[in-house]
Amino acid sequence: MIQIRQLHKSYRTEALSLHVLKGIDLEIGAGEYVSIMGASGSGKSTLLNILGILDTYDSGEYFLNGTLIKNLSETQAALYRNEMIGFVFQSFNLINFKNALENVALPLYYKKVSRKKRNIIALEHLDRMGLKDWAHHMPNELSGGQKQRVAIARALISDPKIILADEPTGALDSKTTVEVMEVLTNLNREGITTIIVTHEPSVADATNRIIHLKDGMIEYETRKDNGVHITTQLQKPQMV
Ligand code: ADP
Ligand code: MG
Repeated sequence: MIQIRQLHKSYRTEALSLHVLKGIDLEIGAGEYVSIMGASGSGKSTLLNILGILDTYDSGEYFLNGTLIKNLSETQAALYRNEMIGFVFQSFNLINFKNALENVALPLYYKKVSRKKRNIIALEHLDRMGLKDWAHHMPNELSGGQKQRVAIARALISDPKIILADEPTGALDSKTTVEVMEVLTNLNREGITTIIVTHEPSVADATNRIIHLKDGMIEYETRKDNGVHITTQLQKPQMV
């Protein structure tokens, strides 16, 4: 599903250039359940944003489902992103003046689906998240866990192949974290490739493969074997 070779990314301002990803090699197969860990500033969000075609890269290759992302125009990239990927964020990114149903239905509004049809589909997705009765509540009337489940329903509404979640439990207490992780684990069981950035070991432990980033490189990764995570690979620092 995901093939990355020697991916580099720098952020440039007039004054300086910050080399953030320093030669990432990564393959993730369809249906995998992966987490990305690493210290703050190690490049986790940058990598996730590139995976999600929200950000561009400088050099190297990124193939998503066989398509070389670099070759897409901005319009093609946006279409491909909408077709392939659902995003979940730490801060939920719900629109405060729209109710849960309208938030979930929003991606369909942009696809010009009729109001009636998008409300039906959105309600199905809220129901799937156990939130049917909350459809007409505003975000500020929902708990953190409920808000994140609304955000997940919204992420699912275009039937993405991949869910990318950046610290999805970062704003939640431990009980709600378990609740949200159950939702993500179930989605993965249903076949959605799921990639979660986290700094919480308990969250990473729910996944089957943990990629450890350090200073823009993959330091090592561990894979779950019979329920136990085993370190399987080291990526040597590359000269640049
Ligand atoms: P992480 O998610 O692991 O905390 P990030 O990928 O967000 O790390 O950031 C990696 C580095 O890049 C940090 O030093 C951060 O300050 C910097 N950075 C992130 N986004 C930008 C940006 N849009 N412009 C400039 N620097 C950025
Ligand atoms: Mg981050």
